[in-house]
Amino acid sequence: EKHTPLILSVEGVDKSFDGFKAINDLNFYLEEGELRTVIGPNGAGKSTFMDLITARTKPDAGKIQFHLDNGRDVDLTRVREHDVSQLGIGRKFQNPTVYGSHTVYDNLKLSLAGERGIFHSLFSRETAADRDKIFSVLETIRLDKHADYLAGALSHGQKQWLEIGMLLAQDPKIMLVDEPAAGMSDEETERTGELLLSLQGKHSLIVIEHDMEFVRQIASRVTVLHQGHVLKEGSFDFVKSDPQVIEVYLGR
Ligand code: ADP
Ligand code: MG
Repeated sequence: EKHTPLILSVEGVDKSFDGFKAINDLNFYLEEGELRTVIGPNGAGKSTFMDLITARTKPDAGKIQFHLDNGRDVDLTRVREHDVSQLGIGRKFQNPTVYGSHTVYDNLKLSLAGERGIFHSLFSRETAADRDKIFSVLETIRLDKHADYLAGALSHGQKQWLEIGMLLAQDPKIMLVDEPAAGMSDEETERTGELLLSLQGKHSLIVIEHDMEFVRQIASRVTVLHQGHVLKEGSFDFVKSDPQVIEVYLGR
């Protein structure tokens, strides 16, 4: 029987804030190349979960392991936040944080440069390989006709795609994406779904989402978080018809 290797394992993780258990015995496994959607009511622990994976927050108990292609495991509870992104785990926050007074192209160039530093990147010429990479990302996020636009002049949806592109420029193995369709029109939402679907396989993705129409569209495996614990996991149709899920989330 063929089975896909795991890229991330979260086992028995707890996290309290002032005695309140925001994350309670959380177990979560992500396969390589998988696109997973995480849903759950406000306060369910979704953001804290992402903070734990990116080492922004340290757990009180449990293991968080990033499984590398070379067979090694990295204990993410022992890595600094800065090093997590270097390892290939990229995160996109809910609000786009693009450099509005720079062009779309330069935003990607800055992101590609990453460690080399912003000043170096702005005042030096990119290599031909960098240029190819930037144009390939521009095509993926469908902003190739907007390369010379100022990022500040883009629509809300385009800014979100540019930010996904800025993550892509760094070739992340795992991409964490927080509510990518928030505030988007129906058409933008649909394009965002297509974009995320096109990234699975090459990248592993965890997408936090509230918009059920969007979750249906990307039709990935869905994890329902409730009180810091996995309540249910399965296909969209499976979780949406589960009585417990309806009670805590969909039925409200
Ligand atoms: P979600 O993203 O699913 O809405 P969060 O992960 O933001 O949920 O929050 C889970 C719970 O933990 C909430 O009750 C929230 O108030 C609490 N919480 C999160 N971060 C902190 C913090 N830094 N200090 C105190 N409480 C927090
Ligand atoms: Mg949140």
